Amino acid sequence: MIKVMSFIIPVIAIGVFVLTFVLMFSPKARGKMMSKQVKATKYMVDESKGDIESISTNMADATKGGIETTVRAIKKGFTEDEGIFCKHCGSKIAKDSKFCSNCGKEL
Ligand SMILES: [Zn+2]
Repeated sequence: MIKVMSFIIPVIAIGVFVLTFVLMFSPKARGKMMSKQVKATKYMVDESKGDIESISTNMADATKGGIETTVRAIKKGFTEDEGIFCKHCGSKIAKDSKFCSNCGKEL
């Protein structure tokens, strides 16, 4: 058993060393490794595509609702904040007023 171990460990060490060496100095080998990783990632993505799609659909729905609420709030804010500025004194007055509430001049 010890004999086997003392044989395997150097082999693994050399193997790792060689692999590191090859990866460091051979872009081709690195590219191969990378493409394998990319393929694995692709596979994973394909496998989880359905989940991702359902998640993104749910998220889109949630976002849509949020946006609608925000737009409504903004619209409301604008309409409530609607007003005009007096052309004589520049103070902000109600939209439909015929006379300025500050200086009393006609608009
Ligand atoms: Zn005024």
